[in-house]
Amino acid sequence: MYLQIVFNLPLQGPFSYLLPEDMEAHIGFRIEAMFGRRKLTGFVVGTSEERPAGDFQIKPIIRAIDKAPVFTISQVDLSEWMAATYFCTPGEALSAMLPGGRRESLPPVLGTYELPGHRDFKLSEPQNRAVEGILKADEGLFYIHGITGSGKTEVFLTAAEGILAEGKSVIYLVPEIALTRQLIAEVEERFGSGTAILHSRLSPSQRYAQWLRIMSGEARMVIGVRSAIFAPVLNLGLIIVDEEHEGAYKSEATPRYHARQVAMYRGKKEKARVVMGSATPSIEAYHLFHNGGMALYSLTERLAGGGMPEIEVVDMKSRQGGLSNELIHEIRETKARGKQTILFLNRRGFSYFFHCKSCGYEMVCRNCSVNLTYHKGRERMVCHYCGFNQKPVEVCPECGSLDVGYSGFGTELVEEEVSRLFPDLKVARLDTDTAKKKGALETILEEFRAGSTDILLGTQMVAKGLNFPGVRLVGIVMADTGLHMPDFRAAERIFSLLMQVSGRAGRYTDDGKVIIQSYKPDHPAISYAKRGDLEGFYKKELETRKMLGFPPFSRLFRITFRGKDKRKTENAIGDMSQELQASADNIFEIMGPSECPLSIISGNFRFHMLLRTQQPQACRRIIWDVYARMQRPSGMYIEIDSDPISLL
Ligand code: ADP
Ligand code: ZN
Ligand code: ZN
Repeated sequence: MYLQIVFNLPLQGPFSYLLPEDMEAHIGFRIEAMFGRRKLTGFVVGTSEERPAGDFQIKPIIRAIDKAPVFTISQVDLSEWMAATYFCTPGEALSAMLPGGRRESLPPVLGTYELPGHRDFKLSEPQNRAVEGILKADEGLFYIHGITGSGKTEVFLTAAEGILAEGKSVIYLVPEIALTRQLIAEVEERFGSGTAILHSRLSPSQRYAQWLRIMSGEARMVIGVRSAIFAPVLNLGLIIVDEEHEGAYKSEATPRYHARQVAMYRGKKEKARVVMGSATPSIEAYHLFHNGGMALYSLTERLAGGGMPEIEVVDMKSRQGGLSNELIHEIRETKARGKQTILFLNRRGFSYFFHCKSCGYEMVCRNCSVNLTYHKGRERMVCHYCGFNQKPVEVCPECGSLDVGYSGFGTELVEEEVSRLFPDLKVARLDTDTAKKKGALETILEEFRAGSTDILLGTQMVAKGLNFPGVRLVGIVMADTGLHMPDFRAAERIFSLLMQVSGRAGRYTDDGKVIIQSYKPDHPAISYAKRGDLEGFYKKELETRKMLGFPPFSRLFRITFRGKDKRKTENAIGDMSQELQASADNIFEIMGPSECPLSIISGNFRFHMLLRTQQPQACRRIIWDVYARMQRPSGMYIEIDSDPISLL
């Protein structure tokens, strides 16, 4: 018998091999074979009795790794779709889907978490409608939109129960496991031994063990992070995408897939329902459910009590230091009431942007309406989308003030300030650095939950999914930081973050308070967040996107080159850009090439260009075509990203 094999290589394949008489392998098996002079693991994606046509030598495989399939026909199909969609090869796609390792050890035991007690309430009317809507349909897309605490999770879990009762399987995606322990505990409690948990901290063999439980049908309730979308469940009935707007669903390594997009593909292909939910939908999803592409169910009430917090915006222009008097006062007041404070710092963003300290003016590209980034070495203000650049100014073009600067907001500075101002309060810091240490995250969160810490200072991590009964005050130290990112999604991200962080205040009290500090209190992302006006913000943001022709009104592809030699890299992307231009045929438009905002990463110079199109399929074909016939200088890396999220 002959085998069609693909490898985790940037080579299309499949490649033909001979299966020796004394070995057994079928579609879905992993094998070992020589590829050139290397011994590689390959995936069997096809078999044939007849010798493949062609006058070439067919080598035998070395051995079959598995005794039973580790992937299904559906996954072979999925790998082909992924290859076409995300500019990778089917072998790279399969490799990303499959767990490595062998069956050795038992699945991991997650720490135990306090459960909210068994459900002792009836679903609300809107919750019921959503669950019925989902269960009644055989397939389709659904969106559960509702503020934190409005009962979305309950809808997901009840719908999942219904699907399992139909004898089908469920994949429940969460952006991150660390902050969803409570949910996982609840899922385990409710669905018992039929649950499989897939997260990034599993060892390869632990992942593999879970994988086999799923493939055998023993586990029909799969909960996990991004890559759990590839779980080989039998008879898929429902995919849940919780916190749909989260960037974590997008892979930033090959294959650069978006789990939400894969979910939609699988749902269609395998005739399953896809349910997404968030308090702050992505603009893409919002656009879709308002245009009939998805069924929308809105939940508007906080079911477990607690009021909406009062939101105050403090204008930081012409102020010294990181904390305003208003915020300092409220931290004291909160302590006096025996409650706790969360201080949120947005670390993302750039240290160098032009900004007027008198009026808050920032320099924006005249073509793209994204912020210009100051390049000290070149003494230019540069647009990272189109390459437009200009001389830095010394006087504010808006108000004539000389009090201008190129600055960022030092987060360490704020930390110091907090400790100095509140020597009597206990402060804990939570960010990716402190969370790296094993168990540190749990300890910090538990101490805060128990009330032994007064102030929890943190980055994005504090914004997500955490609920602490003692929190009254949320202070957003610097709301604008992300707005300086040279990215058309900056406003959406900040708005969504502000809404999410605000949702942390007053979950359990009626005197919740949010203070947003900002240099740009009039920026729509901030002023709409202050009013809690989601619809207003989305409408405005969609208008802007439409005007500029950015998604969801177009599709983008991003092509990034990186190499050790700056000139060569720049020339190479220039060549590709010309080739693309020659084949564009009005199907797409090229923005750039220009230096990436992160222009050097570990000694590699980075350049990118964006292709904007209304015809993604045709555009993809042209990119593939040009890419395939292109000369590639050695040591040059090329990344092609469909629907990029990060443009850095
Ligand atoms: P979300 O996912 O929207 O943040 P959850 O589903 O986690 O909301 O629900 C928030 C809280 O409200 C939870 O403590 C949950 O147990 C409770 N809850 C959910 N549905 C109801 C209901 N119908 N009646 C009373 N409490 C509810
Ligand atoms: Zn000014
Ligand atoms: Zn520009």
